[in-house]
Amino acid sequence: MHTTASDGTLTPTEVIELAVAEGVQVIGIADHDTVGGVAEALAAGARLGVEVVPAVELSIQNRIEKDFVELHLLGYGIDYTNPDFVAVLDRVVQARIEQKIAQIKVLQRDGIDVPVEEVFALARGVPGRPHIAQVVLARNPGRFPNKAALFREYLAEGGKAYVPRRFSLRLAEAVDLVVQAGGVPVLAHPGAYPGVSDPAAMVRRARDEAGIRGLEVAYPYDKNRPHYGASPQQVAALISQFADLADSLGLLKTGGSDFHGAGKNIALGEQGLTLEEFACFKSQWPNPKPQSGSVF
Ligand SMILES: [Zn+2]
Repeated sequence: MHTTASDGTLTPTEVIELAVAEGVQVIGIADHDTVGGVAEALAAGARLGVEVVPAVELSIQNRIEKDFVELHLLGYGIDYTNPDFVAVLDRVVQARIEQKIAQIKVLQRDGIDVPVEEVFALARGVPGRPHIAQVVLARNPGRFPNKAALFREYLAEGGKAYVPRRFSLRLAEAVDLVVQAGGVPVLAHPGAYPGVSDPAAMVRRARDEAGIRGLEVAYPYDKNRPHYGASPQQVAALISQFADLADSLGLLKTGGSDFHGAGKNIALGEQGLTLEEFACFKSQWPNPKPQSGSVF
């Protein structure tokens, strides 16, 4: 799940306190491209009796290989203090910050009122396009009929303020990075990539060409694109389809809520693993490797 270290609304400590209140006993802290919330979560977990799994959710951009565009790779059980690992994450985050500033500058050039500081203050960390959109819509009433129109004209790929990132990870690089940091590379929510037409083929390639070891099978698909509003039966069908796929490809099965705090209507612990399933997953983790040289 996510904390204020990326785009969540609760601090790591607040997430752990909520876990206690909800009876969740093990929690993976997997912020987008940062391990900035892990140390605080581990401390709170030790204090309050919740097992915290250090993790990360890496954003992948593979432009050449069409179906690998914009994937998310989870790394579970990582050594979040590994300096090589942290250095690469810093580069990814820095590139995102520069990209967002460049996008905001384009909007400003077109006379749209959107102060950089306000977007960053709203995000409380690295902003995403939704943060930019929120400030634009609030400060420029009447300029866009709705958020979708703003995305179409400016923020979506191909829009006037679309700026590619200067540095991003390819899937195979991200897998190596997680493995070097002693973690298990798990492809996140295979059914939640609007740009991927054949998830099963994509997962197979992610295993064969990049070396993923697990698949996030259980996921609240009804709360996320492109299956927003799916019925419980449809969600169950997706989950069992991906469970079968993981079994047939020899991949470890995980589950996650993708909890972000307020804003997304997802409960902490939703679609999580049972303690038995978690113990099985954990038994497959490699031991953290001794630190080697640079990953690349
Ligand atoms: Zn994700």
